[in-house]
Amino acid sequence: MTLALESDAPGVATRGVWLTCIDCGEQFAPFEAVRYTCDDCGSLLEVRYDEYPTFDAFEGSGVWRYSAALPFEEGVTLPEGSTPLHAVPRLEAEIGVNNLRVKHEGMNPTGSFKDRGMTVGVRVAQEIGVDRLACASTGNTSAALSAYGARADMETLVLLPAGKVAAGKVAQASLHGARILEVDGNFDRCLDIVQDLTDRGEAYLLNSLNPFRLEGQKTIGLEMFEQFEREEGTLPDRIVLPVGNAGNTAALYKCVRELRRSGAIAEHEVPKLTGVQAEGSAPMVEAIENGWDHIERWDDVETIATAIRIGNPVNAPKALPGIRETGGTAVAVSDEQITTAQRDLAEEGIGVEPASAASIAGLRKLRREGVVSDDEDVACLTTGHLLKDPDAAAAAGSDPEPVPADTEAVLDHLGA
Ligand SMILES: *Cc1c(COP(=O)(O)O)cnc(C)c1O
Ligand SMILES: [Zn+2]
Repeated sequence: MTLALESDAPGVATRGVWLTCIDCGEQFAPFEAVRYTCDDCGSLLEVRYDEYPTFDAFEGSGVWRYSAALPFEEGVTLPEGSTPLHAVPRLEAEIGVNNLRVKHEGMNPTGSFKDRGMTVGVRVAQEIGVDRLACASTGNTSAALSAYGARADMETLVLLPAGKVAAGKVAQASLHGARILEVDGNFDRCLDIVQDLTDRGEAYLLNSLNPFRLEGQKTIGLEMFEQFEREEGTLPDRIVLPVGNAGNTAALYKCVRELRRSGAIAEHEVPKLTGVQAEGSAPMVEAIENGWDHIERWDDVETIATAIRIGNPVNAPKALPGIRETGGTAVAVSDEQITTAQRDLAEEGIGVEPASAASIAGLRKLRREGVVSDDEDVACLTTGHLLKDPDAAAAAGSDPEPVPADTEAVLDHLGA
């Protein structure tokens, strides 16, 4: 018997993996040192491989079904992925598209897609050999990192904007044993600070600035394509998703580029990536509408959709070309439109937090404007679970009606 000696550690992909700067093209070894951005020019890094798989390379379930497209064979898992692609016949008819499917990422172990990034990211942290993990978060990143850090038996530090994180998310970070710092400032300030801390070697950064997070999140696209193909016999023409730091937008763009590269999909099968932001927090929409190749940071941001209350989307340099090159667009919706969409999804049995409903709200707006046509097959991404933000759900829903503890009185109340 011979042992596979291609890599120094078990479970590391045996094919070539490296990091490349998206601006200057400089290449770096992936696990030898802690590195989030390019040493030479400071721009974002992207994970590259010497081979890209087609769909027949995938087996098993969840995120690790797609290990042929990832830097490892397996990761720190709870397990994550294998989320449903719901049919929503009433919304499909009302919005008026050929097919509408909802990929509910709120069905991941900690209730958001962030788990897909963490199963890979925390595995990388083990590979590099760091002992403390950190992130800034609007909530879900901290919930996911706390759970995956706990699973890996690593110390976790999270920085949250004080008073702006939904209750369910803080509760998760707290119970999974993270050290929680409440910062008197918004998310973007939290990220500035955690970047300073990680630059000084205090912890390993697991925000979506970390290119390995996006590798895990790329599997949303792979999984959605397989489901859509199986259930609708085609691939979606358009993917609509909420945008915060634009990590998912970047990850989906990378997903389709890699599938193009391996020949798994044809040029005409590339879905139009369509980003949705809240009106009070829409720097990506501003950049797309003005044809800018960069975003201008918004210092004051506000929206009920706290998960996307972000004024400085760090992955914009990766995401803006993705939206443009796929023929997609970006659109801003009001908090009222978000709440309406949250109710509409709930009426189809799908419980999401406000940021997630932005995808449906954005699709509805674009369809009314005629940007989306009635013959399109559309997949909307819902990013987080209803229970993440119980206050928003209760405010959007109907109020409980107090009744006496007596059957006759209850019947009276019901008007029977
Ligand atoms: C993180 C998050 C987003 C934003 O995703 P990006 O990849 O940062 O654009 C949207 N919705 C929810 C529920 C999230 O947790
Ligand atoms: Zn560079």
